[in-house]
Amino acid sequence: MLHLFTYLHKMHIHYISENNSILNKFISEIRDVKVQKDSLRFRRNIERIGEVLSYELSKKLNYKSTDVLTPLGKKSVEKVTNKIVLCSILRAGLPLHQGLLNYFDDAENAFISAYRNHPENGVPSEIIVEYFASPSIENKTLLLADPMLATGQSLVAVYEAIKKYGIPKELHIVVVIASKEGIDFIKKHFPENTHLWVAAVDETLNEKGYIVPGLGDAGDLAFGNKL
Ligand code: URA
Repeated sequence: MLHLFTYLHKMHIHYISENNSILNKFISEIRDVKVQKDSLRFRRNIERIGEVLSYELSKKLNYKSTDVLTPLGKKSVEKVTNKIVLCSILRAGLPLHQGLLNYFDDAENAFISAYRNHPENGVPSEIIVEYFASPSIENKTLLLADPMLATGQSLVAVYEAIKKYGIPKELHIVVVIASKEGIDFIKKHFPENTHLWVAAVDETLNEKGYIVPGLGDAGDLAFGNKL
């Protein structure tokens, strides 16, 4: 698998399940047709993956020593100094967002709606970005969360839209399952030194833009079918 990443020059790609850990159990459960039917477990597993990715990502943040008082004395501790904004795409991004927020609990939050237009033939075309609620992201650390990085077009559309709210100092993209094609696409469209934190990488996309083998439709699995 690593050969995929040998030609990366600009984006820092962190492929977390490359080394075995408990993360593999969570990924396996969201893929498994028998287990993923339990939507409560599905949402919680996505959240747990968000928590693992948050922990890994936190190793690249900035820290400063501060003293804390315990009941028995004083101790110098290292605290994150980054001003973090979490941005997620409705609706599939919500459980991943919650997982990130469980760890970065004092982060600010941004939400955006982006969906693929499926004309009559059912083949996805342009990305429509509509609802957007965001604080300023100027000079902050932006965490852009998307559970399924398929073509990469929605992530790029979201990044273009969020630029109206400022230019972040650091940019981290957080993904549960990515296609190789999606990774190649976003590498061309995000600034130098962007970090991509990805739990699992899959081979291909089908003609409808779904990741194969992937897991199916993350939004439907988390929240039920839509019309
Ligand atoms: N969105 C999903 O929910 N699943 C995919 O495979 C791709 C995009």
